[in-house]
Amino acid sequence: MIETDALIVGAGPIGLFQVFQLGLLEINCHVIDALPHPGGQCAQLYPDKPIYDIPGLPATTGRALVAALRQQIEPFVASGSAQLHWGQLVSSVRKLSDGRFAVTTPAGLNFTTKVLIIAAGAGAFVPRKLMVPGLEAFEGSQVFYAQPEFDAFAGKHVVVQGDDDTALGWALRCVNLTATPPQSVTLIHRREVFTASAELVNAMRALCAAGKMRFVAGQITAPVISTTNRITDSPATLGTLTALQLALPDGSGETLLADVLMASLGLSPKLGPLAEWGLKMQRKQLPVDTETFQTAQPGIFAVGDINTYPGKKKLIVCGFHECVLAAFAAADIVFPGKQQPLQYTTTSTRLHGLLGVAGV
Ligand SMILES: Cc1cc2nc3c(=O)[nH]c(=O)nc-3n(C[C@H](O)[C@H](O)[C@H](O)COP(=O)(O)OP(=O)(O)OC[C@H]3O[C@@H](n4cnc5c(N)ncnc54)[C@H](O)[C@@H]3O)c2cc1C
Repeated sequence: MIETDALIVGAGPIGLFQVFQLGLLEINCHVIDALPHPGGQCAQLYPDKPIYDIPGLPATTGRALVAALRQQIEPFVASGSAQLHWGQLVSSVRKLSDGRFAVTTPAGLNFTTKVLIIAAGAGAFVPRKLMVPGLEAFEGSQVFYAQPEFDAFAGKHVVVQGDDDTALGWALRCVNLTATPPQSVTLIHRREVFTASAELVNAMRALCAAGKMRFVAGQITAPVISTTNRITDSPATLGTLTALQLALPDGSGETLLADVLMASLGLSPKLGPLAEWGLKMQRKQLPVDTETFQTAQPGIFAVGDINTYPGKKKLIVCGFHECVLAAFAAADIVFPGKQQPLQYTTTSTRLHGLLGVAGV
């Protein structure tokens, strides 16, 4: 059980700036994001697009802004007062009898926190799934959307769907399993055009030419499931996934042997578990008091795209302002009775000490 002053759900631009504002008020925090890296929408949806409305930065990009925000919190990360956790979904939040909150992730992180700050944006970025009826029953056993244990695929028929670096990387790794390679490796994508790097595409084509793997242009239409040793086309009874039916571009079909299916179809934000934390929501947003950015639940704050209030604009600059007021309100809970005078980073020697910079 990790005890902390504050826990931030989401490390998008607003979650990252929230870390900075908490740090200035000497509030320890942990930050959790479902993505394996910081930046939320900026990093995931528009890393290389220009942004022109960040104050003081006439032009930046999603990637550069995230890098700068990450650099700005480094003093707090280096001192251990802020800790970052990647690839973890906050699944449950429960109020404890002493007023704190118990927060857990399915991967086994357990926290108690005095305040919870939700900076969840449009929701957790999670893998997009195949919309093929019957496949969902095999998720985690034969169908995977995240990197699985490749060694378990020895001697099996492996199918990889997707056209990005992740999909091609998985396919190449399977072909190159040294001990016992898979019996077959097939990459499928609806057409022979890839978003993966040229290097990976060339490596994939070379392995296909050498007969070590296949590429099939097509789409999965149905699973073929064996309920005994007999192959049936009925997904009604959970059995074993043995093959996939494909629709090919010329209108014909193919049945492809498949013991394992890995799909990399990109990530999309899903509100997911947040909707089950018992918080009052308005059109999938958390209403907040604009003096404190606290939700209707004392001790739980919401900043950035996830919150709503009269006049709300889903802009990064608005989220930054929200972080400042949320941090001061959180300090009143974390340090009850303690005055929190406003100090300038320009002149405060206390703040210089926290930031590890020399005052002038
Ligand atoms: C194409 C595009 C262009 C844009 N251009 C601009 C612009 O020019 N200027 C501007 O001001 N704004 C712009 N925006 C909007 C801006 O990106 C958002 O306002 C901003 O990203 C909101 O930040 P956030 O931190 O609140 O949420 P997000 O960036 O959405 O980050 C939220 C994070 O929380 C994580 N999360 C959510 N739930 C959980 C959970 N349960 N467990 C773990 N992690 C979770 C998510 O994985 C995500 O990383 C643009 C948006 C898009 C899509």
